[in-house]
Amino acid sequence: MLTPDFIRSAAGSVGFDACGVAALDELPEDLLRSFCEWLRRGYHAGMRYMERHLQKRADPRLLLKSGARTAAVTLLSYKPQRRQPLHLPQVSCYAYGLDYHSVVKQKLRSLLAALQAEYPALQGRAFVDTAPLQERYLAAKAGLGWLGKNGMLISRELGSYTFIGVLLLSDEVKSDAQEQKSKCGACSRCLSACPTGAILDNGVINSRLCLSYGTIEKYSNPLPDNDAGAARHAGAAKDEKPSAAGYIFGCDICQEACPWNRRAKVAAHGEMQMLPPLLTLTAADWLAMQADDFEKIFERSPIRRATLQGMKENVRNFEF
Ligand code: SF4
Ligand code: SF4
Repeated sequence: MLTPDFIRSAAGSVGFDACGVAALDELPEDLLRSFCEWLRRGYHAGMRYMERHLQKRADPRLLLKSGARTAAVTLLSYKPQRRQPLHLPQVSCYAYGLDYHSVVKQKLRSLLAALQAEYPALQGRAFVDTAPLQERYLAAKAGLGWLGKNGMLISRELGSYTFIGVLLLSDEVKSDAQEQKSKCGACSRCLSACPTGAILDNGVINSRLCLSYGTIEKYSNPLPDNDAGAARHAGAAKDEKPSAAGYIFGCDICQEACPWNRRAKVAAHGEMQMLPPLLTLTAADWLAMQADDFEKIFERSPIRRATLQGMKENVRNFEF
């Protein structure tokens, strides 16, 4: 019989940093209600896809034809070994390397293959950020961490710089997960650090105000002022000269403020290593970039999603 230990060990061998198992059930009513309220208030901004497949979101067992019974939830750390120089336009560190969708999905497929090698009748389906799944809730249920006040999953060992992958499985696996209580305590650093007031109560994020949304999904919207850059540099080492640089793709400000990320392990995954041009690209370089260079440099990067035109608009929205 498939066990959490067997799944964890297979997940470790394909390169994941952590893995837990959660029994699948209908989403708790209060969680579904909060999600619907989030949609009703328009906090999902232009991400209309979040409105679709509500029935599957409410009951993730429907996401596997034969019926899913268990979720193997994985974490892959992307805490970087080095950061971009602070005088350059900033990119969220999750986008330093290759597109996590393909990296994590590939690892989930390898995990499924490893499980099926022992259990040939097992069926599974891999998801990375693309399905109507409450991944963070499932990760917390699988004992991998707690949901912080900034809405992120926080792991004691890995902090919040992690990609969550979910492998839905047809077999029932008795979960050994111990759900973790929030360790945010009285801290509210992420809320104070957010330059746009996008973090509301109880980990609710208003994407219409969030720079992550503004710079990636809806780049043509005017961005809030450049306090983002100031906050980004508030934690800079004393010998680093603060500049007015802001984020032009994503935003790490609330995560950088979180004490759990300071003590988190650094990722050593080759796929997450920074693309070398990100060490040198200035605002002027971005503005002068030609389409074929953009394609060449960011061919396998999540930055491609924002398009070159979008990145240029983001650069123009800040003063460098
Ligand atoms: S990602 Fe940036 S803008 Fe969005 S909630 Fe965090 S600090 Fe605020
Ligand atoms: S900064 Fe503080 S309140 Fe925010 S998620 Fe981290 S520990 Fe929780």
